[in-house]
Amino acid sequence: MATSATLAMAAKARELRNEGKDIIGLSLGEPDFNVPEFVKEAAIRAVNENYHSYTPVDGYADLKQAVITKFKRDNHLTYSPSQIVVSTGAKQSLANLAMVLLNEGDEVLLPAPYWVSYSDISKLAGGVPVEIPTSIDSDFKITPESLEAAITPKTKMMIYSSPCNPSGTVYSKEELRALADVLVNYPDIIVVSDEIYEHINFTETHASMATFEDMYDRTVVVNGVSKAYSMTGWRIGYIGGPEWIARACNKMQGQITSGANCIAQRATITALESSPSKIQFMVDAFKERRTLILDLLAEIPGFKTNIPQGAFYVFPDISYYFGKTLSGTTIHNASNFSLYLLENANVATVTGEAFGDPNCIRISYAASEENIVEALKRIKEALV
Ligand code: PMP
Ligand code: GLU
Repeated sequence: MATSATLAMAAKARELRNEGKDIIGLSLGEPDFNVPEFVKEAAIRAVNENYHSYTPVDGYADLKQAVITKFKRDNHLTYSPSQIVVSTGAKQSLANLAMVLLNEGDEVLLPAPYWVSYSDISKLAGGVPVEIPTSIDSDFKITPESLEAAITPKTKMMIYSSPCNPSGTVYSKEELRALADVLVNYPDIIVVSDEIYEHINFTETHASMATFEDMYDRTVVVNGVSKAYSMTGWRIGYIGGPEWIARACNKMQGQITSGANCIAQRATITALESSPSKIQFMVDAFKERRTLILDLLAEIPGFKTNIPQGAFYVFPDISYYFGKTLSGTTIHNASNFSLYLLENANVATVTGEAFGDPNCIRISYAASEENIVEALKRIKEALV
């Protein structure tokens, strides 16, 4: 199993910083905002109210109710409590799903580029990742034809994120419907729709495969509070999906974690019950930073970008540099390039190889404008 490339780069940047280097970290997808005050207060209240015991494995009943209300309010999705499982981050939700659904040799479709952990989580559960290639020229979107071509009798699952980490791609309802029209012919394939960037969406419409009546019974929606509420370290994620899958996930995490942290669960109730308008200021800031970083990248030769419509990453194709020698270092691939930027510009990014696209690197703009400007200035100086 590979080490998570995002976390490995973040650790490396931290290590260099501890050695006294002035590293700007644009590797980790982690909002730089504080947790909203009202959420912090809910956590403090929970401590003072003596929440301390093991919680129900699949989450407090009132948290599951808050998740149900959120799904109804934001996604027009109806679930009962037995269809909801709260976990230690969306990452655990994904791991539960892989472990309960995949048998040895089952194929998992991953529209590429995909979030770094999908492939290793699948492999860990005995699955075989099958990438569906896309192109930056078509905004990294798969098509009904490319989906159909990737399906085999062994296909068990498809995992994708929209808005997408790392490409920022957002599928419209019509595009998802066209993909669903293929999937309805293969009723054994379970769709895992990772919607953790739901609110960080600049198109103003978020679509979910689960809202299609003919897909509802075989789609699991994964979401969490890490991105929208800046609660990455609080570790709360959740799923809504078919009851038989939720029951299996509940059983799985009952043997592995006993459920998520009780204080973070209480705080998540407050976060989910609040109006999404309370976090709009963060979304607005990300949108401005997207414009800023795209403008700055356009000034550097060899960075080809799509226009990300959500999340907080740009995923430029930097293959222009392959075969070139920069300050004595020959760049052969995206990993060399990302390392070159770390060593020569003191800027941490992540190689696209980890996301299934070896021509690209991922740059997170969940950073202050000041850091973005300084980082891009350094990158430019290191390359031209
Ligand atoms: N899915 C995607 C697409 C992500 O970017 C992340 C980032 N961590 C996760 C899942 C996992 O999130 P969590 O912090 O809730 O585990
Ligand atoms: N999802 C974030 C990222 O892609 C956090 C890192 C991780 O969980 O791997 O950078």
